[in-house]
Amino acid sequence: MIVCKFGGTSVAGREALERMGSIVRARLAEAPLVVVSALAGVSDALIGVIDAAEAGRLDSSAGELARIAGEHYALLDSTPAPDAAKKMARDAIAETLALLEDLRRGAALVGDVTPWVRARFIGSGEILSSRIVAASLAAEGVDVAWIDARTLLRTEGRDPERDAPAAPPVLAASVAAVTPLLAPGRAVVTQGFIGSASVEDALRPTLLGRGGSDYSASLFARALGASRVEIWTDVDGVLSASPRIVPGARRIKVLSFDEASELAYFGAKVLHPSTLLPAVEAAIPVWVGNARRPEGEGTTILAEGIVPEDARFAVKAIADKRGITAVQVVSTRMLMAHGFLARIFAVFDAYRTPVDLVATSEVSVSLTIDDDRRLSEIVEALRSFAHVTVERGMAVVCLVGEGMRGNAHVAAEVFRVLRHVPVRMITQGSSAINLSLVVKSEDVADAVRALHDAFFRGPLPADVFGAPTTPARPGSESIPPLPREMLLSLADRRGTPLYVYDLTALEARVAALRRHLPLDPGRLLFACKANAHRTIVARLARLGVGIEAASPGEALRALECGHAPNEVLVSATNARAADLAELVSRGCRLALGSLSDIRRVGALVPGTAVLLRVNPGVGEGHHRHVVTGGAQSKFGIPLEHLAAALAACRQAGLRPLGLHAHLGSGILEPAPLLASARALLGAARMLGRVEVIDFGGGFGIPYREGEPELDLASYGAALRSELDAFAGAVGTRPEAWFEPGRFLVGAAGCLLARVTCRKESGGHVFIGVDTGMNHFQRPALYGAYHRILNLSAPDAPVEWVEVVGNVCESTDVFASGRALPRAEEGHVLAILDAGAYGFTMASVYNLWPLPAEVVLEGGEVVPDR
Ligand code: PLP
Repeated sequence: MIVCKFGGTSVAGREALERMGSIVRARLAEAPLVVVSALAGVSDALIGVIDAAEAGRLDSSAGELARIAGEHYALLDSTPAPDAAKKMARDAIAETLALLEDLRRGAALVGDVTPWVRARFIGSGEILSSRIVAASLAAEGVDVAWIDARTLLRTEGRDPERDAPAAPPVLAASVAAVTPLLAPGRAVVTQGFIGSASVEDALRPTLLGRGGSDYSASLFARALGASRVEIWTDVDGVLSASPRIVPGARRIKVLSFDEASELAYFGAKVLHPSTLLPAVEAAIPVWVGNARRPEGEGTTILAEGIVPEDARFAVKAIADKRGITAVQVVSTRMLMAHGFLARIFAVFDAYRTPVDLVATSEVSVSLTIDDDRRLSEIVEALRSFAHVTVERGMAVVCLVGEGMRGNAHVAAEVFRVLRHVPVRMITQGSSAINLSLVVKSEDVADAVRALHDAFFRGPLPADVFGAPTTPARPGSESIPPLPREMLLSLADRRGTPLYVYDLTALEARVAALRRHLPLDPGRLLFACKANAHRTIVARLARLGVGIEAASPGEALRALECGHAPNEVLVSATNARAADLAELVSRGCRLALGSLSDIRRVGALVPGTAVLLRVNPGVGEGHHRHVVTGGAQSKFGIPLEHLAAALAACRQAGLRPLGLHAHLGSGILEPAPLLASARALLGAARMLGRVEVIDFGGGFGIPYREGEPELDLASYGAALRSELDAFAGAVGTRPEAWFEPGRFLVGAAGCLLARVTCRKESGGHVFIGVDTGMNHFQRPALYGAYHRILNLSAPDAPVEWVEVVGNVCESTDVFASGRALPRAEEGHVLAILDAGAYGFTMASVYNLWPLPAEVVLEGGEVVPDR
C-alpha cells in the first residue's frame, strides 16, 4: 500500500478535487490510503469562530460558521458524485456542522473554552473535507472507503491542540481494522492532523499541531507498512531556497533523509519537521510533488541521498525560518559550573519549549526557540541562576547538504558572502551537514540571496537539481533604459556586441546628485574609470562635472575632452612620479596616497597643493574586490600615519589642501559612507586649514529587480549636518568633493549581444551570445547580477537558462538559472546596467575584437567625438 497526502490547496475547489481524483485513480493498484487536510483556510476560519464565540460575539461567529458550512455544501454540490454518495456525504457534513453549531453556542454561553473543546472544534475541518473527498472520488468511479482518523491515531493527551503521538500511535487493533479495507482498486480516505487521546477510558479528539497532516501520513505509513508516502502540495518539490526570496531557486531531485529532516526543521515550508521521522525510522521513501502538475518529478527523499562529485555544489538548499527568538544565558558564576547546561535545559523542558540551535562558550549559552508562548516564564526561571537577554525578531538561515561534511570551501564562502550581514550565532550540526546562522529577520532575504548566488552558480549537476517552478516573467522593472525597437534597430545597424549609453539618463543622475549632496561649497567629479567614452567625458565637462582620474591616461582623456585642468583630480595608485609631475605642470590636481608618493612627487614639483588620500579604516563594497578602505587595503595613507604624512609634506614642500578617501564601490547603505565621512572629518582636524574634503565615490545602484536604491537624500542630509558641525568647531567650511562613477553611468548603459547558439545539455538550456567576459567582466569577476532581457521575443514563453559568453573560460557566464523568454539563435539580448565598469574593463582576450559603443540622446545617436 501507499499513503497519499493532499494539502488544503489540493482539495479546495472542484478542479483541485478532479486533479486529486486522477492522481488517486492512477495509483489505485497500489491500494492508496488518502490522507487529507481541511480545505485551505478552513482550520484558521474555525479558530476564528471559536475565538469569537468565546468572546461572546454570537452574531459574527454564527455568520462565519454559516459561511464555512456554505463553502462545504457548495463544493460537495459541484462534484458530479452519484446521488447515494452525495447523500451520505451531505448527511455526515450536516451532522458535523450541527455539532460545531452546538459547540459554538456552548462556547458563547460559557465564555470559556477548554483546549479539548477547541481541539474537537478545529479538527472538524478535516472531517468535513474528507467527506467531500470521498464523494468526489466516488464521482470518478473509484471504490472508496472512509475512516475516521480519530479512531486510528492515538496521541498523548497532554496538550490537545498540539499533541504528540502516543506510543504506539496506531494500535494493532486499528491496523487490523484498516488493513482489510486497503485493497488494490480501492482508495481509503482518512484525515490528517487529528487523532484522539484516551481520557478516563473515553476517546477525546486532539490535534497534532501545525503541519500535522504530513505527520499523520507518515505515522500511518509506518504503521501500515507503506512502500511510499506521497505528499501532494502546491509546489514542485523541495527547492534550493524559498522562491519568494530567490525566484530562480532550483528543485532538488533527491534528498537524503538527513538532509530533508534538517531542511524541514529549519523552515523549508514543504515538509513539517516531524513528518519524516516515522518514515525515516521505517526506511519508507517520501516523495513531494505538485498536485497541479502531477506529471512533475518532484523531490524524492531516500535513506541515502546523492552527494555531487564537485565540492562546489555541496550545498543542496538554503532554508530560512523567521519569527525566532534568541536567548542568551550567562552564568552568574562567571565560569561554567557543572550542571549549568542541565539546569538551563531543564527549564525549557519544564515549559515544554523545544530549543532549536545551541552555541556555548565557557560562560554563556546562546540558544534559539521557535515557540515563545512560555518565554516570560522561562526567562523568569532562568534568571534565578543566570543573566538572561532575549532578542526577538530573529531568523535562522540554514545551509544543508551531505557534501558539506569536511568541506572547507563551504565555510570560507559563507563567511566571504555574508561579510556585510551581522550574524548573531553560528552552529554546525553534529552531522556536519547543516550550518545554521542566526540573523535579524530583516537581513534574511539579503543573506539567502547572496548565499544562493554563491552556491548555485553555473550549470548545476543535473542528477541532483532539476528545473524549479515555472519561471516568472521578468518583472516590469526590467524595462530597458531605451525603447526596445530602438535597441533592436541599433543592433541591426551597428552590429553586436554593442554598448549603448544614454546621455539623457546620465544627465538625470547628475541632477539627482546635485539635488541631494552638500555641494555648497563643493565639487562633483566623475570617476572616469567607470566609463571613459569621449562623448560622455565631454558632456560631463559641459555639465560642470570634473573628472577623477585613476591613471595619467584617464587624466589625458579628460583634458582632451575639454575639462579644465584644475577640474581633474588624479588619484593614481603606484604611478611614476614623473608622470604625476607632468600632470601637475599641466594644472591637474593630485591626491597622493602614500609617504612614498609625497616624497617622490615633492622632489619633482615642490610647492604643489595636494590632497592626501587616507585610508579611513573602514571599507565597504558589493564584493571584496571593490573594497578600497580598511586594514587590508593597498589604498591610501593609514590614519595613524597621517601625522607622518603631514610632516613629509612639510619636508617635501607640498601644501596639503585637504583629505580624500574612497572606501569602496557599490554601496547601497548610507551608514558606511557616513562612517568614512566622520573618520575623514575627524582626521581633517589635524590639518589646521582644510580647504577640501573629498568623500570619494562608491554610491551603489540596484542591479536586481526590487533592490532598494541608496537613500541619497538621507546620506546628503546627514553629511550636511556633519559638515555644519565641523565648520562650527573649526571655523571654516571646506569644499565637499564627491567622485562617483557607477551611480552616474551604471544604469545609463546596456550591452547588446546576439544569440549565436542555443544548446540543451545535461538538463540545462545554454544561451550562447556573441560577447563574453572579455567584454563585460563584472559577472565573472565579482559574481555580479545583471538583469537580461530578450529584446527580440519579450513575450515568448519563459524558461530557465544559462546565459553564457563566447570566451574559452568556464567562468564566462552572464547569468545562471535565469528566467528568460525563450531565446533563439539571432535574437538580441540586452544586459542591463552595463554602463559602468563595462567597456573600460574590456579586453581582447582570445583575440576577439573590442565591442563597439554608441551614445544616444533623446533617442538620437550622438556622433562620436
Ligand atoms: N574614486 C576612487 C578613488 C575609486 O577607486 C573609485 C572606484 O574604484 C571611484 C571613485 C568610483 O567608485 P564608484 O564607481 O563606485 O562610484
